[in-house]
Amino acid sequence: MHDQLMEIYKKLFEHFGPRHWWPADSPFEMIMGAILTQNVSWSSAATAIESLKNEGILSIEGILSCDPENLASLIRPARYHNQKAKKLQSFCQVAAEEFGGDLDAFLSLEMGTLRERLLGIFGIGPETADCIILYAAEKPIFVIDAYTKRIFSRLGFCPEKISYEDLQQFFMSNLPQDVDLYNEYHAQIDALGHHTCLKSKPHCGECPAAYRCTARQA
Ligand code: SF4
Repeated sequence: MHDQLMEIYKKLFEHFGPRHWWPADSPFEMIMGAILTQNVSWSSAATAIESLKNEGILSIEGILSCDPENLASLIRPARYHNQKAKKLQSFCQVAAEEFGGDLDAFLSLEMGTLRERLLGIFGIGPETADCIILYAAEKPIFVIDAYTKRIFSRLGFCPEKISYEDLQQFFMSNLPQDVDLYNEYHAQIDALGHHTCLKSKPHCGECPAAYRCTARQA
């Protein structure tokens, strides 16, 4: 199974090239982006990040000192802005109160402990927690998302309705625990899901994984 997963990875990498994830200038910006991109495209989240930067509040103290309504209005391009403002402030509150505002100390927690603490924060589910662990804390956890489930079920590796945990376990037990590999593999899956393996009309003719796909369309 390891060889099959690595073969797909290599085909994707040759096709899309390096994705340079995560697109952020700092771990804190990465974390805010991971929350802001929930249920919306990255371009919408990026616009909201720019807005926070322009306002000079892209920091733990800045987010916490911002009036919730004002914060919501600044991140409006990312949609669900009231909920997301609360999520950003909830994360910052934990970072400030439990770690004295030292984000490195927070991210230095042992991986399992870090995941558990992140999942206890309002608005952080498994996918967001794992993105933070992989891309901000740089610890080896494989991120699963809707694209991963769609693509790997179409490729015949798993049922379409496989659970997040089971699919994560599948990747992590068949690949080496390697931050760089997990980083790039997830980014490559995102590229395939976003550009090629679309939900209703996949562009199979231009898919680098078509050679082994059971759901390939003419
Ligand atoms: S061949 Fe088509 S259905 Fe299969 S993974 Fe590629 S784009 Fe998706």
